[in-house]
Amino acid sequence: MKKAIYLFVLVLFFVQVNFSQNITKQSYEKAREVLDKAVAAYGGLENLRGIQNFTLRAVGETVQRNQSRKTFTADRTAYQIDVTVDMKNNRFVQIVKGGYPGGFSYHNGFAVDKTDGVTFDLVRNTFVVRPNIQAAAIRFRQRWIPQYWVLNAVERASRLRYAGKTEFDRRPHHAVSYANEDGAENTLYFDEKTGLLSKFEGLGSDRFFGDSVFEMIYPAYRTENGQPIPTGRISKINDELTEELRFEQLAFNTSLTDDKFKVPGGMKEVTFPAPQPFNKISETVYTVNAGGYNVLAVGFKDYVFVMEAPGGDQISRQAIEQIKKIFPDKPIRYIAVTHHHDDHAGGLRTYIAEGATVIAAPGEKTFFERIVKSKFTIEPDPLALNPKELKIETIQNGRRVLTDGTTTVEILDIGAGPHAEEMLVAYLPNEKMIFQGDLLNRPPNGDFPIANDTTVHFAKWIETKKLAVEKIIPVHGPVTTIDELRTAVKAKETAQK
Ligand SMILES: [Zn+2]
Repeated sequence: MKKAIYLFVLVLFFVQVNFSQNITKQSYEKAREVLDKAVAAYGGLENLRGIQNFTLRAVGETVQRNQSRKTFTADRTAYQIDVTVDMKNNRFVQIVKGGYPGGFSYHNGFAVDKTDGVTFDLVRNTFVVRPNIQAAAIRFRQRWIPQYWVLNAVERASRLRYAGKTEFDRRPHHAVSYANEDGAENTLYFDEKTGLLSKFEGLGSDRFFGDSVFEMIYPAYRTENGQPIPTGRISKINDELTEELRFEQLAFNTSLTDDKFKVPGGMKEVTFPAPQPFNKISETVYTVNAGGYNVLAVGFKDYVFVMEAPGGDQISRQAIEQIKKIFPDKPIRYIAVTHHHDDHAGGLRTYIAEGATVIAAPGEKTFFERIVKSKFTIEPDPLALNPKELKIETIQNGRRVLTDGTTTVEILDIGAGPHAEEMLVAYLPNEKMIFQGDLLNRPPNGDFPIANDTTVHFAKWIETKKLAVEKIIPVHGPVTTIDELRTAVKAKETAQK
């Protein structure tokens, strides 16, 4: 018995000696050991510091996590990015080609020289000058390559911590974490055997599902000119794929000309006017600008109906503030969204916190239930701070009418189209107007809309329903007339012939 106590005291003594070393320093030293091995695996510190520029072509697919035709499914669309980052001269250029389900495609560029930026649209051949670009924009692009992560962690050594040993992709890994210049904490997973970076991840808040892990994975490497080159990059949010790319080209320190960082020749400069805070359509019907999106607000006798909750909580709060200025004494009783995509419903939780009942298509109910139940502890939004049950009324037989005798809104489901399986629009018969999302988009400067498969489907639906429509109000872009819609559809049909 006495012997046992003696032994216990002895053990305690040694444990204490161990801990007096300081756990922060210990953690750093362990992380440093892992990182030093990684530095060696990438050819040494001199080699890493010698990377003055890189040119990358990544090709693959976007997995449409919150932009698919149906809730809880993942449609895929082709994606390609060409990016050149010139760290030495503090500039970059990228050209991206991608799309969304329903015939949406984009092909655009972004070039930045120090703080002077320019975005360009290779479909319309236009460009917009963007001054005051933050340094974070170039850092964000540097993060394409694992070599940057290793160097960045070395240069921010006091933030380095050892996170633990773990299995990843069935191989043992050491994980270290550090905080980058943007204040984001990242965990880097290094393969125990090769010392190479297999993935980096961070915690953040997703506008639909709250507390989330964001992962970027380098699935494999090949060696080129003695350098380990990742074969691609996979992105995941909460273990759900969001992007799968292979690196078709990655070259370091190529000779770069100034022209590469300029707008391609023959493009027209356009300016995007600052949006008005709101647009009055009639005494009771308004659209409100929320982060560049149009939100419909209709004041009935006793309450306000809002359609569309784009973006996220911040944009919703901005919209609600404006709506309350327009209709000071009326509660927002109903919120509807055109469809479940995050740029249309991402701010829904804020309206639910406000006490609004959601009017939705039947297939979206389960999705919205999950959004309301999600945990938001990292960035608590108004619903996290003031939890409320979801009040939801689904549309029956494709139609729901709100009216006080004077003002009328018909919420109509246009049915399965190329962009979404269920799609609501607001038809205002007195105003001869339709408010819609993604069925017809238009650039903010009012350049003519370009019709796609989704636009054609929508135009046909209006004709079939024989609705008296003069004006179409897009969530994305300025007011469009029915004649402009018809002209855009005709232009597409002519181009196809
Ligand atoms: Zn959409």
